[in-house]
Amino acid sequence: MTEPSIFTRILDGEIPAEILAETDRLFAIRDIAPQAPVHLLVVPKTADYRDVTEVAAADPSLLAEIVAFANELAGQHTDDGDFRLIFNTGANAGQTVFHVHAHVLGGGLTEKSVGA
Ligand code: 5GP
Repeated sequence: MTEPSIFTRILDGEIPAEILAETDRLFAIRDIAPQAPVHLLVVPKTADYRDVTEVAAADPSLLAEIVAFANELAGQHTDDGDFRLIFNTGANAGQTVFHVHAHVLGGGLTEKSVGA
């Protein structure tokens, strides 16, 4: 059996994090190492999907929910509602947690924040 992901452990309350918002299938937290003035993570509660390609193939409606939830959160947490949505996909692209999640970056972005 594989170890639960860091996000599953947060959801289960084993690792402290403020859940900013949730739906029946998603939750949102602040990234512990923010790369922009607003840097949130939108995470499916299920750990079934390693990355965005798996979600898109298996459950496109969940991917649409992630995008809509990111938009809603950006509206609440930034002045202008604008945001970047980043899915690092694969270790060589910077993915470190293999439980799919979207980075929501906003609030006065600079070019430096591209590689979330
Ligand atoms: P990835 O590198 O897989 O695209 O994104 C994983 C993200 O999770 C990183 O940006 C990292 O800062 C964040 N992260 C890792 N551990 C924790 C944690 O314990 N709490 C929170 N809030 N974020 C975390």
